[in-house]
Amino acid sequence: MIQLRNIERSYKAGVGQTWVLRRIQLDIREGEFITIMGPSGAGKSSLLNVLALLDDQWLGEYWFREQAVHTMNRKQRAEVAKQYTGMVFQSYHLLDDLTVAENIDLPLSYKNISRSERQAMVADTLDRFNIVGKKDLFPSQLSGGQQQLVGIARAVIHKPALLLADEPTGNLHSTQAKEIMELFRELNQQGTTIVQVTHSEANAAYGSRVIEVRDGWMTRDTANPDMEMTK
Ligand code: ADP
Ligand code: ADP
Repeated sequence: MIQLRNIERSYKAGVGQTWVLRRIQLDIREGEFITIMGPSGAGKSSLLNVLALLDDQWLGEYWFREQAVHTMNRKQRAEVAKQYTGMVFQSYHLLDDLTVAENIDLPLSYKNISRSERQAMVADTLDRFNIVGKKDLFPSQLSGGQQQLVGIARAVIHKPALLLADEPTGNLHSTQAKEIMELFRELNQQGTTIVQVTHSEANAAYGSRVIEVRDGWMTRDTANPDMEMTK
């Protein structure tokens, strides 16, 4: 599904620059469920932002389903992102002037789906995430955990081919976190490829492969021996 070749990313730091991704080589097959781990500041979010086609300041080659992302302009990358990806942001990134229902509906607005079907999908998703009562509220009226749920609902409502999740359960109770991981497993079994960043061993157990990033380098890439058997 994805090939990253020699991906490098740096940020300006004073007169110089600091490198946050170094010569990343990564192949992701359709249907994988990958966990990215590593210390804070290692480059995990930066790598996720590249994969999600949200960042266009990197060097190297990125192939997405045989398409050369590195030759695309910003608009073309955004189009691929809308068509194929869903992203759960660590700090939610909900749109403040849209209601919960409108935030969740957003990915559907990029697709060719009828109004009535969209309404049904939003209603289903609100129900599934147990936030029907919050649908007309704005993000600022929600707790952090509730905002996180809305962010996850928005990322999965269109059943993306590629789901990226940055600490998706960081603000949830352990029972909620488990429900979200069960949902991810279900999506994965239905064909969604997943890449999650997490510090949680419990969440990592759902993945089939672990990648470790340290100081911008990929320092480990192994099958997950602790993977929970599908129940
Ligand atoms: P992680 O997700 O592993 O905690 P990040 O990818 O968020 O790491 O960050 C990697 C490094 O890049 C950190 O040192 C961080 O401070 C730096 N960084 C991330 N985003 C920016 C930015 N927009 N501008 C400058 N430095 C950044
Ligand atoms: P998220 O992980 O959801 O993107 P964060 O709160 O980690 O949210 O980061 C918010 C934004 O700040 C991101 O766009 C990230 O690239 C940027 N950022 C992170 N670290 C730094 C840094 N050291 N300097 C400047 N910007 C940063």
